Amino acid sequence: MKTLDPDISIVCPCFNEQDVIDSFMERIKQVMCEIEYSYEIIFINDGSKDNTLEKLREVRQQNDFVRIINLSRNFGKEAALTAGLDYSKGAAVIPIDADLQDPPELIHDFLREWKKGYDVVVAKRVDRSSDSWAKRFSAELFYRLHNNISQVDIPENVGDFRLISRRVVRAVQLLPENQRFMKGIFSWVGFKTSVIEYKREPREAGETSFNGWTLWNFALQGITSFSTAPLRVWLYLGSIISFLAFIYGSIIVVKTIILGVDMPGYASMITVILFLGGIQLIGLGVMGEYIGRMYMESKKRPVYIIEEED
Ligand code: UDP
Ligand code: MG
Repeated sequence: MKTLDPDISIVCPCFNEQDVIDSFMERIKQVMCEIEYSYEIIFINDGSKDNTLEKLREVRQQNDFVRIINLSRNFGKEAALTAGLDYSKGAAVIPIDADLQDPPELIHDFLREWKKGYDVVVAKRVDRSSDSWAKRFSAELFYRLHNNISQVDIPENVGDFRLISRRVVRAVQLLPENQRFMKGIFSWVGFKTSVIEYKREPREAGETSFNGWTLWNFALQGITSFSTAPLRVWLYLGSIISFLAFIYGSIIVVKTIILGVDMPGYASMITVILFLGGIQLIGLGVMGEYIGRMYMESKKRPVYIIEEED
């Protein structure tokens, strides 16, 4: 007998979250028993090194609406989320963090908007005071830069916590890329979107997996996934520099004809050589970044590997 698909799938990627799973379950169950839809909660264990999997199994034993997808190693949040979407069956899917930074109570508002006919309901942080100054500043810079140079805008301060309807999930699954910058992918597919504002709380317990370096790489992935502007800028920069060099060269020629030959300017010469060398290396580096990503994409490796599902 085929069991009926649930209305709502909650998708929760977990990496080393043993300390928050109990409180997460408590909060989310409270919310879910107040709604009139059927639901499932899918936990994706993203290669946790602590007792997350054991904890999840306990939870699974007590709650039949819980499913566990155990990845074979740590594939990163984007991959874990992708696995969750692929395995979800609900008519609407809600990705949520395990650390309770995304307040489950907002699901009520998501569902209200969904009922009104929105395919996407996003949660926008109005208050980032739970983040450090450096994180807020770099996030702001990232959104500005990204939205200036990409065709799709990522709404500012909107994370993965959202509701998406089944047809949005299907659209997301049509994007075959291996490097899955989910925020960008969600924006890219479009659909009618409603925005709900909320205040982001600090982590309930445990530690964030995203430090400065991983965030930097994440930002690079975001920009290279959705824009080729960093490649094109060299055309213009090169043109400007060549033009200036031509003018400067002409001045020297005219000066030499009028005033005769002299040989000053070692300092200016070495400066120009180093400057241009540096510029060229940066350009090469940017190209390398894209080529590297093309290389990784061209292997067509799966985004994640599942060890077992339950
Ligand atoms: N996460 C994951 N795989 C990773 C890193 C994080 O599945 O490699 C999950 C993590 O368990 C949490 C969510 O992604 O549910 C957000 O992670 P975190 O709280 O560390 O990020 P932050 O909120 O600091 O951006
Ligand atoms: Mg968090």
